[in-house]
Amino acid sequence: MKAVTVTPGQKNSLQLREVPLPWVEDVPDGRGVLVKVLRAGIDGTDREINNAEYGTAPPGDHYLIIGHESISFPQHHRGFRSPPGLCAHPHSGSRHL
Ligand SMILES: [Zn+2]
Repeated sequence: MKAVTVTPGQKNSLQLREVPLPWVEDVPDGRGVLVKVLRAGIDGTDREINNAEYGTAPPGDHYLIIGHESISFPQHHRGFRSPPGLCAHPHSGSRHL
């Protein structure tokens, strides 16, 4: 899948990148939710991360997917009940939206 990423700590590293499709088991403790992103935005936090002001890549990765302001549909989850429908603001700061 395509994702907009930055390399944390490297100023102006924003790029469109092909990344592996995430899966719910990628998130510890069965807390993963796979969502289909309908629309995503870039906000001030993303701009600050791209300015290398803060942000870290998830363990084992050298990049961070940005665009945590989004409207999405939950596709798959396990470990808890999730109501059907739209999901706004998936967890931010994660490689796996
Ligand atoms: Zn935000």
